[in-house]
Amino acid sequence: MAFDKIKETQPKVVQLLTNSLKKDRLSHAYLFEGERGTKKYETALYFAQMLLCTGEEVPCLNCHNCRRIKNKTHPNVYVIEPIKNSIRKQQIIDLQKEFSKTRVEPGPKIYIIRNIEKINISAANSLLKFLEEPYPDTYAILTTANINKILPTIISRSQVVQFSSLNKMIVEEELIESGYPSSTSRIVSNLTNSITDAVEIANNEYFLEILDLSKDLFNIMAANDESIIIYFEENSSIIYQDKTMSKLFLSLLIIYQKDIINYKINDIGNIVFKDEMDTIRNIATIKTKNRLIEELEKMLSLTARLNSYINERLAYDNLLLSLERR
Ligand SMILES: [Zn+2]
Repeated sequence: MAFDKIKETQPKVVQLLTNSLKKDRLSHAYLFEGERGTKKYETALYFAQMLLCTGEEVPCLNCHNCRRIKNKTHPNVYVIEPIKNSIRKQQIIDLQKEFSKTRVEPGPKIYIIRNIEKINISAANSLLKFLEEPYPDTYAILTTANINKILPTIISRSQVVQFSSLNKMIVEEELIESGYPSSTSRIVSNLTNSITDAVEIANNEYFLEILDLSKDLFNIMAANDESIIIYFEENSSIIYQDKTMSKLFLSLLIIYQKDIINYKINDIGNIVFKDEMDTIRNIATIKTKNRLIEELEKMLSLTARLNSYINERLAYDNLLLSLERR
């Protein structure tokens, strides 16, 4: 993750922090709240760079301090992460010790606690004291994807900063930059707003297989030369491995189906499966708009029912049967 992207990724957050810094109204504790992959941790480091940068335009990302923060070697920036799914009292004590040492350099000190919802009670009590009587020029950044699980006493002592979901474009761009093919990147960016999750999906060994299966079904449907039900029976074992696969498959069907509807209503720019234009056009010509929407509703309703105990095979057969009907 390039730090120069934080400004584009979370412009509102950067604006808020920049203004507070300029007006000398920084809070001693911030709670960065937002879903996974919204760059809360990177923004916390960026904030530390803002405070410690010695360059002209702050943060310059290039001075000795900025570089040390990026490389996680600056003694004034201390990061705590859960150990075995929990933040313990000893970690808070270690932090306090660390900041009282002489090897800390003059200037602001920043500690970042990631996944603050994982803090245990005794650690939380120590932290609360620290938050109530902050050391001078010391700033806390707490991050969470689960604000509902955080003690109200922690929330009330910090300024909550909301992180917006990354938009599709950014996820798509990041995937392409990381070396994924542009068609895959476009599809995956429509499955999630989180970069972390997107990379996970793109790296899933079954992803391409499920993607191919979804495309095959629509292609067979368009060609109308064999039964998609039989094809599905022979090639779908992967779908039944676990619900994640099944959900992924359904999500892909839904995106494809929406593409066909978008084609039908002339919204070509929003089409995701760009390499499938022939098939999309073909099916859009065969089916009416109302029918396509009805089919989409069936897909959505099956997605909702996947979490309950349903006969998945039967449910898929029913769905495919209605898709195949001429
Ligand atoms: Zn700098």
